[in-house]
Amino acid sequence: MKKYLAIIAVFAAACTPAENGTKPVIEDDSAPTDNAAAAGKAADLKVHAFDCGRIGMLDLALFSSNGEYEGRENKAADMCFLIRHPEGDLMWDAGLPDSFHEQEEGVTNGPFHLSVPTTLASQLEGAGVAPGDIEFFSISHSHFDHVGNAAMFAGSTFLIDKDERAHMFRDEAREEETFGLVAPLENAETIEFDGDYDVFGDGSVMILAMPGHTPGHTSLQLTFSDDKTVLLTGDLYHLIESREKRIQPTFNTDKEQTLRSMDRFEALAAETGAQVVIQHSLEHMKALPAKFNSPN
Ligand SMILES: [Zn+2]
Repeated sequence: MKKYLAIIAVFAAACTPAENGTKPVIEDDSAPTDNAAAAGKAADLKVHAFDCGRIGMLDLALFSSNGEYEGRENKAADMCFLIRHPEGDLMWDAGLPDSFHEQEEGVTNGPFHLSVPTTLASQLEGAGVAPGDIEFFSISHSHFDHVGNAAMFAGSTFLIDKDERAHMFRDEAREEETFGLVAPLENAETIEFDGDYDVFGDGSVMILAMPGHTPGHTSLQLTFSDDKTVLLTGDLYHLIESREKRIQPTFNTDKEQTLRSMDRFEALAAETGAQVVIQHSLEHMKALPAKFNSPN
């Protein structure tokens, strides 16, 4: 009976339009929630790796809770990705806002120097894809450097971890200067999930629950037609060195949860022999072809 009531509750939640006129959120419980391993079945994927901005980390100490990076600076990339699957397209992360491109020297904002040498709009155009034709949009998490162009994908179906959605639309977040970047997503068609999410239902594109940096932070696993695997970290790690030393930022929402996510991520990477791409690593960006259908 209890189970039955729970099903009714989910159904009711899915059918009741949210307050302030937003579209109903579909809760998808069909996605695998077993955190032991993602399915990882191959498909004919084509990936575009986009340069979605540069971030000068002027105070790298913020990115090591153990003081390791004290007194250092770092030049970071801000990659975002278009994944083309035979059944549709997924845009993963949305970088810094294209409007920064107009500021040739970039913008200094607190401990960051931000610039956009090439707009995402022009890179999508180069790939021959109109943002309005992209079926799915998802983000590793809702920090400003991952949602800069989110408005471009407000017409896509927004795939989001339930804890991240609650975090990004909480009252406190609404007061933040950057809330306008995510606001258009509140009215998007949304599939909210708990645990991992299998985007195309065949295990080839898996959004992985990797919480800790933020409450619903996720990484992305891609399994190509030659059975090779790529893991996109989101912000589980910011530097190659952070992965080697298990270093996390001072501002992560849950340190213990982050360490558990790192354990899970590394187990998956070892099991699949994955190529790991740290989305903020300039070295990784330079090593990655702009377009690929296998990590080779
Ligand atoms: Zn980031």
